[in-house]
Amino acid sequence: MFLLLVALQVCMVVPSWARVRVTTTTTDLASLVEMIGGDRVDVTSLSRPLQDAHYLDATPGMIMRISRSDLFVENGLELELGWVPEVLRETRNRKVRRGGEGHVDASRGIQAIQIPEVITRDMGDVHPSGNPHYTLEPVRSQQAARNITDGLIRVDGGNRELYLANLQAYIERSDALVQEWVERFAPYEEVGVLIYHKHFDYMLEKLGLDIVDAIEPLPGLAPSAGHVARLISSHTPQTARLVVMEPWHDQRVGRQVADGIGVPLLVLCPTVGSCAGAECILTLFETNARRIYQAISATDGE
Ligand SMILES: [Zn+2]
Repeated sequence: MFLLLVALQVCMVVPSWARVRVTTTTTDLASLVEMIGGDRVDVTSLSRPLQDAHYLDATPGMIMRISRSDLFVENGLELELGWVPEVLRETRNRKVRRGGEGHVDASRGIQAIQIPEVITRDMGDVHPSGNPHYTLEPVRSQQAARNITDGLIRVDGGNRELYLANLQAYIERSDALVQEWVERFAPYEEVGVLIYHKHFDYMLEKLGLDIVDAIEPLPGLAPSAGHVARLISSHTPQTARLVVMEPWHDQRVGRQVADGIGVPLLVLCPTVGSCAGAECILTLFETNARRIYQAISATDGE
């Protein structure tokens, strides 16, 4: 409870005399920008909290927004492949295009998981650079925060010391949060979790849990009735203690699988702002970790 309160205080940012105009592709990145930029930034996310950033379309509003921005931050690792290249092509603001001083690829230097060795068309919507959902895990998000800090310093060098101090504070807070949760999850090491999409993999891995199967047979591909039946027949509460999913996927299917195995279904918060308690990047992790912990510890000894 104490840590939650501290994290909530961390979320509060009042842009009183905002200066640097920042546009991000996701609310997670917007939260990281606020962590580093504090009241020196005015940040907007192009996607809303409950929009799956895999599947947006470029709009004139997005192009207008980044045309007026000093800094543009994208997630990278092909998350926004379907729309960001077009937005950047259409803008007249050369500064925020790839290679410009106002462009940040937040994934630079991230150690990605699930990088395919070979890519074939029957692998679904697979990401050649690895799983792009690294912002759900605080330690990897520190690298994104470093990339954002570098970008802010490039366009607003006068506040360099402030940005570096805020980065350091973010690293310390996120390390403490992870440390606390990893310790609490120690008794549940390698407990099996069944997922829908590979959205929470970085955080589940950080918590020491074991991802045993996925409702999506391939990333981006809806499951067939046969695949659902196979999941139900091949798992028990001993191999999969709970099913976790994102709110934008078919919850009837998630419910069917969870009920079929006889375990809880958890619809987790996929992004900052997508549910109460997940107002910033640290409380997003905190909220998801707490809900998983409650679900697993409630079935202890069964
Ligand atoms: Zn994905």
